[in-house]
Amino acid sequence: MSDSIVVIGSSNVDLIMQLPRLPRPGETISGGVFTQTYGGKGANQAVGAARSGGQVTFVSCLGADGFAPDFIQNFQQDSIRTEYVFQIPEAATGTALIMIDAKGENCISVAPGANHLLTRSHLRQAKEAIEQAAVILLQCELHPATLRQVIELGDELNKPILLNLAPAQALEDDYLSKLHWLIVNESEAAMLTQMSVENMKDVQAAADLLIKKVGGGVIITLGAKGSYIVEKTHRQLVPAFSVNAVDTTAAGDVYCGSLATALVEGKSTQEAVRFASAAAAIAVTRLGAQASAPTRAEIDQFLTEHTS
Ligand code: ADP
Repeated sequence: MSDSIVVIGSSNVDLIMQLPRLPRPGETISGGVFTQTYGGKGANQAVGAARSGGQVTFVSCLGADGFAPDFIQNFQQDSIRTEYVFQIPEAATGTALIMIDAKGENCISVAPGANHLLTRSHLRQAKEAIEQAAVILLQCELHPATLRQVIELGDELNKPILLNLAPAQALEDDYLSKLHWLIVNESEAAMLTQMSVENMKDVQAAADLLIKKVGGGVIITLGAKGSYIVEKTHRQLVPAFSVNAVDTTAAGDVYCGSLATALVEGKSTQEAVRFASAAAAIAVTRLGAQASAPTRAEIDQFLTEHTS
């Protein structure tokens, strides 16, 4: 078995319009500033894992449109293996239309497009890479049926699965029991447990419930407050690093990608969470999603400077 990470997930083109204010239905607002970036939780986590030092194979579906070649080149710049980034004829690459007003308020619409056309047949084609991998890193922007097929396949192949349950969705206990790590933020924990998760007492109560269902461990990320690690016989709050955050977009994605890198390298849970927290802390000091993901050298340097 190699020490590669297979990320199976979404790729979205983010079309971002910064506007003086958000339009009302039927209204046209001019004077916008347009930017196009590469996103999607799968793609962001693949980049987070690769920049932090992981050997990454990405399994994803793009459309056969003008976005696809640039997307693939973008992955290759981060040395991500793209043999299993499929292009689906007549489908559109997943797209997010994002409007942001002068106060930072936003309005987002998403068309999953090719992301929801990733099926069992693509998983079959990528089986060799999945068999070779040390872990599978998964999020929830795939079609819900495919998400469950990946969990079943990982279980069949005896591969550790790290699932970041984002965007939040329900998942049956049968699937939770097959996970090596479940990573959720507070609102995802609330959705999954149907409890309110507002304070540390709630976090612990949600953790009590989740650890009974998940095969391995649970990490509840708490933004600037850090991460709560829950294993069968051990619990620990790992504080976040104190930084001057300017944009928390994709903090969770950078965190999950670098967590996978650290776990594959054999770091202890606590060390891996510290590594992921450092990567995410750097990311929140920068603008953008993939653009904010730090390199291994930057993470190592940050950790050296923040050793207590
Ligand atoms: P998500 O982006 O999925 O909502 P969180 O907001 O919980 O996830 O952030 C994930 C991790 O990123 C946190 O556990 C923490 O380590 C780091 N992080 C997030 N926001 C900050 C911040 N303001 N300062 C430092 N670290 C942060």
